[in-house]
Amino acid sequence: MKRIVVIGGAESGSGAAVLARKQGFDVFLTDMAPIPQHYRKLLEDNGIVFEEGLHSPDLILNADEVIKSPGVPDKAPMIQAIKAKGIPIISEIEFAGRYTKAKMICITGSNGKTTTTLLTYHILKNGGLNVGLAGNVGQSFALQVAQQDYDYYVIELSSFQLDYMFNFKADVAVMLNITPDHLDRYHYNLQEYVDAKFRIIQNQSEQDAFIYWNDDPIIQQEIKKRKIRARTYPFSLKKEAGIKAFIEDKILVINTPDQQFEMEQEALALQGTHNLYNTMASAISANIAHIRKEEIRLALSSFQGVEHRLEKVASVAGVEYINDSKATNVNSCWYALESVKTPVVLILGGTDKGNDYSEIEALVRQKVKAIVCLGVDNTKLHEFFEGKVNEIRDARSMKEAVNLAGSLASKGDTVLLSPCCASFDLFENYEDRGRQFKDYVRNL
Ligand code: ADP
Repeated sequence: MKRIVVIGGAESGSGAAVLARKQGFDVFLTDMAPIPQHYRKLLEDNGIVFEEGLHSPDLILNADEVIKSPGVPDKAPMIQAIKAKGIPIISEIEFAGRYTKAKMICITGSNGKTTTTLLTYHILKNGGLNVGLAGNVGQSFALQVAQQDYDYYVIELSSFQLDYMFNFKADVAVMLNITPDHLDRYHYNLQEYVDAKFRIIQNQSEQDAFIYWNDDPIIQQEIKKRKIRARTYPFSLKKEAGIKAFIEDKILVINTPDQQFEMEQEALALQGTHNLYNTMASAISANIAHIRKEEIRLALSSFQGVEHRLEKVASVAGVEYINDSKATNVNSCWYALESVKTPVVLILGGTDKGNDYSEIEALVRQKVKAIVCLGVDNTKLHEFFEGKVNEIRDARSMKEAVNLAGSLASKGDTVLLSPCCASFDLFENYEDRGRQFKDYVRNL
């Protein structure tokens, strides 16, 4: 019997193990860390053998195939040992894709994936399709393939998932943008990261669709280099020949062979330039899935934003507080700053992933009156921003950061948490960071 070993016991790993078991394989799951209770129970209920807190080579290196969770880095010694033995490693998405005939709408990019994935799902579901939501958001794809029978999936794909995808095919592939991120996991080589992202169109044929942001310099360059087999749906703010979604006189226009759709920009639930891109990508996907125009319109106006992404928290003493904790890279902070129309007190900092802050320098000079650095090591922030804003202060906790930012802001200003960095030095994750921010703001 074919032996499948799953590395990582959280959402994607436990889901993959359940599906593998259902398919009749000999399954073993291993995690270096303790497995959260919820997943442990799932494994036990499905009769899956597992270990936690260690990797036992003799139980792993006899695998016929390994499913690696996206959180497990390539450089982990066990992954290296598996590779050295020549055992094939795949992602949970690659594995689960083998066992469903559903249509796949897959979304990648450096920023906007979760927003676009949730928005697309919202439109398709309200449009009456039998659709599942998977990938980096919600339940794992594999668990749904094991337990549900969806006709469509909207799947958020990070580069870590794409890295280990080989035969999986996206019927609709969405590429939102590419800016440097996670370079620490790609040998500080941007091209490696770009190549990972572009795996989303591998295996596509003429029947499939590729939706992408036409104005992204990296995407443009890659498209020239590569043979694109799918039908293409570029989107842009500007109307140009061949552009399938654009803005004209404050109207969002979707113009595809499938459908012509127009909607007042003002009526869109998601505001801000970056969200126009996300909205275009979602609306094109909905067009391709033949959702009726009225349904698309309704869904685009009723969508309730996503927590921790430019989320308005409260207005206190005339100061607006915005939680953008999910801005874990410089580019997403750029869009946050761009969308704010008032002077800003910016809270940023955390675990730096090789950031180049020059991308936000102009906007910081223009809009930011004070910076609060919230990290264990703020040296790099001081070095870069010293002399470019009036005031730079340090905080070691969210409570301190919120109080400090509040005291630096005047009526009519905005306090923006948009950290450019991961959160792991001071917080459990970006959700914890965002929730703490909201709690302290509400207690001001
Ligand atoms: P991801 O899942 O790719 O991390 P999210 O939807 O969670 O993307 O958004 C992450 C951050 O990026 C948020 O701060 C958000 O405001 C910002 N953002 C959202 N969409 C875009 C976009 N299209 N381009 C740039 N930044 C974006």
